[in-house]
Amino acid sequence: MDVKCVICDQVEQLKDDSIEAKKLRNRRMRMYLCSTCDERIAKKTKERHTTGDFHLYKNKSLNKSILKEKHPDD
Ligand SMILES: [Zn+2]
Repeated sequence: MDVKCVICDQVEQLKDDSIEAKKLRNRRMRMYLCSTCDERIAKKTKERHTTGDFHLYKNKSLNKSILKEKHPDD
């Protein structure tokens, strides 16, 4: 199946029987991030944590939900 990255609109192909494809179908995930954007967000998240941002509570829950969506089995 074709999936489109919500950030850069890049279209990637997922194998129909891959875990990601199943997640997208079953949970109707609205968000798909290509590997490039996924890495970028992961990096930003790490940076935000290491800078000791005191507004962490809001950001934390947001990041958590993104990570959960992406890696629910972690
Ligand atoms: Zn992207």
